[in-house]
Amino acid sequence: MVDTQQIQIQKTAKSRLPEVDFASLEFGQTFSDHMLVADYVNGEWQAPSIIPFGDFSLSPANPALHYGQAIFEGLKAYKNESGEISVFRPQANLRRMNLSADRLCMPAYPEETFLEGLKELLRLDAAWIPTTSGSSLYIRPYMFATGAYLGVKPADSYRFAIITCPVNAYYSTPLRVKVEETFARSVEGGFGFAKAAGNYAGSLYPAKKALEEGYHQLLWTDGKTHEYFEESGTMNLMFVINDTLITPALSTSILSGVTRDTIIQLAKDRGIKVEERKVSVAEVMEAAQNGTLQEAFGCGTAAFISHIVTIGFRGTDFQLPSIESRQYSPQLAKDLDAIRSGAVADTHGWIVKI
Ligand SMILES: *Cc1c(COP(=O)(O)O)cnc(C)c1O
Repeated sequence: MVDTQQIQIQKTAKSRLPEVDFASLEFGQTFSDHMLVADYVNGEWQAPSIIPFGDFSLSPANPALHYGQAIFEGLKAYKNESGEISVFRPQANLRRMNLSADRLCMPAYPEETFLEGLKELLRLDAAWIPTTSGSSLYIRPYMFATGAYLGVKPADSYRFAIITCPVNAYYSTPLRVKVEETFARSVEGGFGFAKAAGNYAGSLYPAKKALEEGYHQLLWTDGKTHEYFEESGTMNLMFVINDTLITPALSTSILSGVTRDTIIQLAKDRGIKVEERKVSVAEVMEAAQNGTLQEAFGCGTAAFISHIVTIGFRGTDFQLPSIESRQYSPQLAKDLDAIRSGAVADTHGWIVKI
């Protein structure tokens, strides 16, 4: 257990809060007053400090800038009308961050220190957590190599940080997506399961191409055969076919989403049939044509659920059933809201109160 006395806190001299227009927040562009920073040196994590949000000073030979030893996480905190603050499944995010760290030869960050530091940060910037329905404070923990050298090897020192952004309810436009059969986000044996910076750099070009062709996002397929679905943009992918919720089974090339896991659990709680397995493009396109594909959606922390309305496949656009006709994903979204707002008991231990 970390002694919170250990966390050095330096408060901002002047809060930026009065300058913020909470009605028009662009995702990830407004940062709260403080951030948490901890350094790994001489083989151990130093006590974290909470300081005013501001620039880092880095060596031009910082190895993360050259070779990409950099990982991140994304989760959310909520505040209800009585001012109570809760965070959704923070331990799951830290666990995943430490899996990412392991794959990139970076040190694990200790869970107790993470939770204590996060709680302190949220208490200090509590006024930054919006309370309007659907809004939240997006939390971005991340870690990168520090030091100064140009050899390709694991760094000796690292920085862990947490920054936060108030965000509004995210109404995702219904998505037009394209089945990607040329490019790959990741391959089996790679590090697609890690939330590592390089995976996102590599996905920009194929995503840009899709945008130019009139699609919002890609449906990634496996990098070897392009016969099986993997993810949708930076979300996990789910289908409802014949009243069964079907999602690609996890592998080294698929990011294990906390939202994916949450939806699977909520569906099982409702007695919905769930299948985690290989999902072929052929199977889904056939279901889209014969009318058994009832729903398709991406899921992730940012939007929770993004409905897919059009799938572009080899030059043809397939229209999916209207969003109004969908029953499963809207119900699961409601179930999650009920747990988050406290209307229904949190039997899975997902909510951490601050
Ligand atoms: C973050 C992410 C997801 C969704 O993960 P959540 O924990 O649900 O937010 C899915 N796929 C990729 C590639 C991601 O980066």
